[in-house]
This record gives sequence, C-alpha cells and structure tokens, in this order.
Amino acid sequence: MKPRTKIQHEGFKMNSNVIDIQKHIETWAFKECNEKIGLATKTKFWCIDCGEYHPISLVRNGKAKCPNCKVDLTILQSRKRKYYQRYWVAFAELSSGELMGEVQVIRLFEVQSNHSVNYMPQVYVKESVRQFIPENHSKIQYVARMRNMGQEYPCCGDLEIRNVSNYQSWNYNPYPYRYHPWSQFKTRYEKIGINKDLQGLSFLESTRILSYNSKAETLLKLGQYGLFSECSNNEGRIYRYWNSIKIALRNKYNIHDAGIWLDYLGLLEFFNRDLNSPKYICPKDLKTEHDRYVKKKNEHDRRERLKAQREKLANEEKAYREMKSPFFGIAFSKGDITIKVLESVKEFMEQGDILKHCVFASEYYKKSDSLILAAFVNDEPIETVEVALNTMEIVQARGIHNNPSPFNSDIRSILKSNMGKISNIYDSIKKAN
Ligand SMILES: [Zn+2]
Repeated sequence: MKPRTKIQHEGFKMNSNVIDIQKHIETWAFKECNEKIGLATKTKFWCIDCGEYHPISLVRNGKAKCPNCKVDLTILQSRKRKYYQRYWVAFAELSSGELMGEVQVIRLFEVQSNHSVNYMPQVYVKESVRQFIPENHSKIQYVARMRNMGQEYPCCGDLEIRNVSNYQSWNYNPYPYRYHPWSQFKTRYEKIGINKDLQGLSFLESTRILSYNSKAETLLKLGQYGLFSECSNNEGRIYRYWNSIKIALRNKYNIHDAGIWLDYLGLLEFFNRDLNSPKYICPKDLKTEHDRYVKKKNEHDRRERLKAQREKLANEEKAYREMKSPFFGIAFSKGDITIKVLESVKEFMEQGDILKHCVFASEYYKKSDSLILAAFVNDEPIETVEVALNTMEIVQARGIHNNPSPFNSDIRSILKSNMGKISNIYDSIKKAN
C-alpha cells in the first residue's frame, strides 16, 4: 500500500535508503549458512554443494572433504538424489527519522536452496520483511511482501508499507537462524548481549522478553542462547531451576540442548535428587542419563497404575461382598446343569473373559437390585444370568457372545423353580434393614 500517515512516509523514506546488501547475503548464505552434507549409499556419496559423486572410501568417521569443491561435509546415509533447504537469515542496520528518532532496522531474508545430483545448487534469497523499530518499540513500521492465504510468512508481491495489526505481527517476525556478520545494533542492545550472534529468538521477541525478565538478560550476556530461548515458552522452568542453572554455569557445564536438560532436571526433581549437586545436574552424557531417568519414570508410572488398579479391584470386591454375601452359597443343580451365585468380582471377570460378553466391563457387580448367577454344564461355564431382585424375574440369560446356549430354556426353568429361595433371602435382608 502507499504510505498515508506522516510516520508511514518517514518509514517509506528510510526504506529507500537501506544498505544494498542482497548480493552479500546470497554469497554468505550459500557459503556459511547452508548445510554442508554428503548423501551416501554403500559405495558412493554425492556432495550437495557441487552435485558430484565420490567414492565412499573418502569418508572417515562420518566426515569427508569434497575433492571437487573442497568443502568439509558431514555424511548422511540416504538414497535421495535431491535435497532442499529453507530458512531465514537477517541483517541489522541503523537509520533515523524526524518522528521516529534513531531506528533499529531488522531485515529478514528467506533462503531456499535446491540441490540435485549432477547439478550446481540453485540458491534463491528473497528479502520479504523489513522492520523499522523506534526507540520505544511502539509504532513499528513494516515494509514487507504480501502474505497469501494459509502462508505463515509474507513471500509474494513487492516490498511495500504494510499495516500490521498486533495479532498478526508474528507473521511479520520470522525467526532468523543467523545474522549477517556486518549487522549493526544500537549500543544499548549490544550492551545486553543482542548482537550479530543472537540466536534462539527473533530480535523483537528478545527485546520483549528482556524488558521484564532479568534472568533472560543474564543468560543472554553469558551467551547461553539455548536457555535464553526457553525464556519465551518455558519461562516457568527457568525460574524454577534458576539455582541449578547458576550452579551448572559456575561449573562451566556446557548446555547443548537446553530443552532436554530442563526435562532432565524435572526428572531429577521427581526422584528427589539434589538439584544443587553438580554430580546430578552436570552429567557427562546428558542424553544417556536423560533416557535412563525417562525409563525409570515410565517404570514408576506403570507400577503406580497397577497399584491403583489393584486397589480399585480390592475396594470393589469388598463392596460386592457387603452387598451380596447373604446370597453366597446358593446353588441349584439338575442333571448336568449347575447354577450358582457369583461370589466375587474376579468371577465376573472370568465370566466376561470366557463367554465374551460385558458382565464385567459393564460392572454388573455394582448393581444393587440385580443378582448375577452363572450356569455350568459339567463344570464348563455356559451362561450368565441376571435376576431382578424386586420382581424375581429373569432379566437376561446369555451364553457366548451374548447368544442363548442350547441349555437356555433348561437353565431358565431350573432357576424359576428355585426362585423362592432367592426371594426368601432378599426378604430377610429387607427386614434386617
Ligand atoms: Zn563438492
């Protein structure tokens, strides 16, 4: 859009005076920022920087120097014949205007790099966002490309003044993984550690966090970019483990992966280990120790789950016994068929397992107004029967997969002719209450 307000005109004017840096960004991105890898099969590898194949014999400990372009490569196992890289980098410079005063300019470039066997890589560098940031960070002026529907960051159209609302400002603030070494920051930023080495958070996100979080400032000054970036989404953990962080840094412990290390501190805390002891908080091999504690924690959780299950079952057994024990011992037989009252929750489980129905899963043992009996033929479970205690009616009698067995009508008739015994017990329970 065309600049309309006075401040937009000023932003537009500063925009036309920025340093011509495009060519330098292109050379630097390809040389210094791109991944340098070789993709290897069993016999050969190809260098993604020049597209040439070389014999596998050149590889030592996962590394090789490309004989053609002389680049040091990390070798990965892959049959891929194409490779693609995409990331953002940035350049910082200073400008000034009458309304905005001294302005920090952050320019963001998207790099896309296509590699394929037998071809030189094609690298595209596109500057898509410029942030003109005044001293107090209010009324930041954006000169940017357009953002298409569904796209995270702007990439099309021309670099123009854009009205960026608060809720979409993150779309105009991609995280640059590196700053060009010629970048220039205001002295007051340099003093707190925001310089060309800034990593982990974008410039705007960094300054926002530093404005209220003094621990972030300490971490940044110490060059602890991993922990610094955790101040954004995991601020709580930084505060919680601040003592351990100080001890680890005093012991010159190298925190490569801040996320994993903070997870690990959480696990140590769970197992009541001393979080002030370098012995625990500074493991030589963090990954192995972390994984060991994760395993320990999973094992602990599994035991807890089993314990809870056992307790639940024990409580249910007790409740079932209290409710139905007056009926225990009831059994009727005729010919090969025996019918008896279920005397434990475990027996409900067995019925459900053998006859593949839901008498256990649906927790029939909790029903106070029903009595559940099992019918056996020559000691083989054959049907499960529910009797409604209020009416002394057979509600259901089901065999395997809920179907009636060939003995269904015999079972029902045996039960009906003995219903008086159940009824008598039920009456005496009611009287006692
Ligand atoms: Zn090469």
